[in-house]
Amino acid sequence: MSNSPLMPVYTPPPTDFVSGKGAMVFDANGKRYLDFLAGIAVNSLGHCHPKLVAALTDQANKLWHMSNVYQTELQQTLAAKWVSATFADYVFFTNSGTEAIEACLKLTRKYHFTKGKPEKIDIIGFDGAFHGRSYGGINAAGNQNYLNGFGPPLPGFKQCKFGDIEALLAMIDENTAGIILEPIQGEGGVRALEPEYLRALRSICNENDILLIFDEVQCGAARSGKLFAHEWADITPDVMAIAKGIGGGFPLGACLATEQASIGMVKGTHGSTYGGNPLAMAVGHAVFDEITQPEFLENVNSVANYLVQSLEGLKDAYPDIILEIRGKGLLRGLKLSIDPLIIRDLAFQNGLLVTVAAGNVLRILPPLIIDQGNVSEAISILDKCFASAQASQKTGEAL
Ligand SMILES: *Cc1c(COP(=O)(O)O)cnc(C)c1O
Repeated sequence: MSNSPLMPVYTPPPTDFVSGKGAMVFDANGKRYLDFLAGIAVNSLGHCHPKLVAALTDQANKLWHMSNVYQTELQQTLAAKWVSATFADYVFFTNSGTEAIEACLKLTRKYHFTKGKPEKIDIIGFDGAFHGRSYGGINAAGNQNYLNGFGPPLPGFKQCKFGDIEALLAMIDENTAGIILEPIQGEGGVRALEPEYLRALRSICNENDILLIFDEVQCGAARSGKLFAHEWADITPDVMAIAKGIGGGFPLGACLATEQASIGMVKGTHGSTYGGNPLAMAVGHAVFDEITQPEFLENVNSVANYLVQSLEGLKDAYPDIILEIRGKGLLRGLKLSIDPLIIRDLAFQNGLLVTVAAGNVLRILPPLIIDQGNVSEAISILDKCFASAQASQKTGEAL
């Protein structure tokens, strides 16, 4: 038994984090860290953004919770904002990404059921995908590490090779209900799908009455340099899960869908106690109003350019360690020849928070409000970490 009362599904370092401001966080000893992880793409506006603090504290003095059996204007108006900014006609609010995924999966099967095709239940997902930890989420992603030990896989889920159109076409049949994917895989190694591939998927779905489901929980909310990553391919999905960055740290997710795709979602078919709760809505409005400003996206793109240039510089300096720079906007990955945990841990010691992703990738997800100074600082810390990893590699010394 570990000496923590927390179920040991995570093993964090023994450092207590107590406060944050912008792109900085501080531990209980007052040590400062530059946060290029942002709670895994959650703290889109950094820590304690004054507008979010004001929105939350203001709402905390008014109304916390009502239940969706009553109407609250904040929910109506935030849904209207997301509808006006996207392909969607309807929004269903949730508290997390995985609940948003559940809503997407349920909506997809209900769509075909309502159209008189109850046998059309198969959801095709892709290698390396991550769709959260619910039974639906782990079955849609098909990652054995997350499925093992949790009973038989659910019927109606299929797994396709990442980025392979021929394999996908071979897998589609009259029971295919939906195709689910992240336009840029996060956990799977920061892998972006080509725009042509996404456009091909759109046509395949149109031709076969299959719903196209995008999981933009990680790559959405302005992180890729557009409000949503699929906008780079100039196509739209039928259904989309969003979360993480849209709440800026307050638990908030949503399932967005077209009117047509939502035909089965009538009174009583789905619900949530907390989804769309006034506190989440108040913060959600403040985040939406910030991340949809044109200047906001301009900053994401210009600082992302600077980040990529700086990462290219690092790659030139450590060509044997950094093999490839991946991703879009401020969702970046460095494919390494060494275990990325070595760099992550060295960075932590040096006051920089970053994470890893599948396939030997160091994952970089800073808050979207960072400036060039933050990038320069992060790069100089990473430089130091790569230098010491290289040095110990040469001397054969264990880190
Ligand atoms: C984080 C994540 C989820 C799950 O979101 P939770 O809020 O942890 O439930 C789903 N899909 C993707 C792509 C994610 O990155």
